[in-house]
Amino acid sequence: MIDLSTLNTGLFVGGEWRAAAESFTTFNPATGQPLAELGSANAAEVDAAVAAATAAFRGEWGALAPSRKGQLLNKLADLVERDLDQLAALESLDMGRPVGASAALMIPNLIGTLRYYAGWADKINGELISNDGYMGGPVPTHAYTRREPLGVVAAIVPWNAPLMILGWKLAPALACGNTVIIKPAEDASLSILRLAELIAEAGFPAGTVNVLPGLGKVAGEALAVHPGIKKISFTGSTETGRAILRNSAGNFKRTALELGGKAPQIIFDDANLEAAIQGAAMGLFFNQGEVCAAGTRILAHRSVYDSVLGGLKGAAEAQVIGDPFDSATTMGPLVSARQRDRVVEYLKKGADEGAELIAGGSAPDRPGYFVEPTVLAGDNSMTVAQEEIFGPVGIVVPFDSDDEAVALANDNQYGLSATVWTNNVSRAHTISGQIEAGAIGVNGWSPLAPQLPWGGVKASGVGRELGYEGILAYTETKTVTVVL
Ligand code: NAD
Repeated sequence: MIDLSTLNTGLFVGGEWRAAAESFTTFNPATGQPLAELGSANAAEVDAAVAAATAAFRGEWGALAPSRKGQLLNKLADLVERDLDQLAALESLDMGRPVGASAALMIPNLIGTLRYYAGWADKINGELISNDGYMGGPVPTHAYTRREPLGVVAAIVPWNAPLMILGWKLAPALACGNTVIIKPAEDASLSILRLAELIAEAGFPAGTVNVLPGLGKVAGEALAVHPGIKKISFTGSTETGRAILRNSAGNFKRTALELGGKAPQIIFDDANLEAAIQGAAMGLFFNQGEVCAAGTRILAHRSVYDSVLGGLKGAAEAQVIGDPFDSATTMGPLVSARQRDRVVEYLKKGADEGAELIAGGSAPDRPGYFVEPTVLAGDNSMTVAQEEIFGPVGIVVPFDSDDEAVALANDNQYGLSATVWTNNVSRAHTISGQIEAGAIGVNGWSPLAPQLPWGGVKASGVGRELGYEGILAYTETKTVTVVL
């Protein structure tokens, strides 16, 4: 079993571990038993982290050559690779995902993101801009832009994919020369606390990265209102995103908000049905359905509707729910009792509104926070088709025409991602252009690769992470005009 006795569980500030004035208890989602006691940062401790991050920004980190910053990011990637199994185990223990998926997908995603942005660190350039000359001429000017770091950036991270999502914020922020304060989610901080130890081991200057476990209402809010922080990069619920936007107004912080989703998966009559059903099931049940891009609205052409229902029923019943450390398990527990109860509430609401139960439908009577993989049939106006459930629950809705499929896909407050299953290349591109979402996957999920921009529209948030957009998101443009 994993030994937590040597893990630092306090606050990592200015390159040192400090005991916090207060603490909170976390629970093992597979058993419901207490797991760890973590430091809970208060407003004064947030002030101390901002001071340390500001000093590093103005001091050693700020002065470090860009290529050296890249080397440190690569060194961190090496250490994550070395400790991959341990990080995977810590994260699965904390939030319930089967450990094989943590080791095969989530931690490698962090490594890939660190290496991708390590390569960017010494390639962040401005532009030379031609223009009409000083006040319109005839005296020419030499005008150019610089891409400068923002300063201290706060990364507020959710519990569903702590290290992967943190990587999308941390790696570009550091590559661009910012310093960072991380607030992990209270339900899953352990893997990020271990990462802090690796950051120290890699040799980043003190204060470059600070980690503050703590409560959203206390530490999160203190970060959002803090005048010393220049940007908040947040992934989590839409409601918290709104609060962060309001709280950031004081000093006009930049905000990147990656919020919820209710992704449609459109299965056309010309799709490879076997692949579509398999892909739709993965989109529903991977990570216990606790995925912002989970494809929880399956829109099926009426001619394949019954086959899709049958296929998803089979896929749900084939899931093995259990201990994340049992190699037979394909679906672990949800992260917390609160999240399980929230999902069960939605299941009740679905039944009340007349959704037909195809598979699953309840929380098994056993210790831990498990919910059965559930497939419903119904229409797009039902609460279970409109709101993000964040659990292994999908609803299948029939459609008759391409226009209707697009209208149904767009009839939702969210717009993070969508999947289109078709073998008609023209239809694939046309529909991809018509769906209101930040990312579209055709005949597969959007791959969440470091090179590809990621983020939403509508209530799914603002801003993009990853790819070159990640560099733009963590730099400010300065224009310099020299009158010649
Ligand atoms: P949340 O938005 O409350 O928490 C996410 C992060 O924000 C955590 O680190 C939390 O401590 C912090 N936070 C909470 N309140 C804050 C505040 N006022 N100011 C600053 N930071 C704050 O999410 P949750 O309650 O853990 O989950 C609720 C729902 O959010 C889920 O059911 C799901 O719908 C959604 N969610 C989405 C994602 C995603 O990837 N888009 C991830 C997690 C949760």
